[in-house]
Amino acid sequence: MPDHTLFDAHFSRLIPDALSAGVLYISMDYGTVIHLCACGCGEKVITPLSPTDWQLLYDGETVTLMPSIGNYNFPCRSHYWIKNSQVVWAPSFDTPGAHMSGPEVRLVDPAPTNGLAKLRGYFRSIWRWIVQRLTRHG
Ligand SMILES: [Zn+2]
Repeated sequence: MPDHTLFDAHFSRLIPDALSAGVLYISMDYGTVIHLCACGCGEKVITPLSPTDWQLLYDGETVTLMPSIGNYNFPCRSHYWIKNSQVVWAPSFDTPGAHMSGPEVRLVDPAPTNGLAKLRGYFRSIWRWIVQRLTRHG
């Protein structure tokens, strides 16, 4: 594992299909941040932004994601924080006494991107339908 890795914050509306390592793809429209696992295993790590999921801090240059990125459900089982765009490694989940929970720790759901995109597309089409009906009648 590298000692440190620097992420590039990349703000865009849509997340591209092919992701580059070392880039944090931030979609404010979808309230989602996606990056390739910092250990280099190539897993897509999806961190939804919400008061109960992850929070994003952008200081104009670097980004901080809180709480931690706990890839416990991925084969690599890596665990790290992204603070000021820098990867800060947490103790491996296999280390005795490693934190599995707590305010600083959060495990990532291994949800496939396509499923998430389909689900969001579904809700958006319902929303469009409602808006169309409202504008037609109101
Ligand atoms: Zn990994």
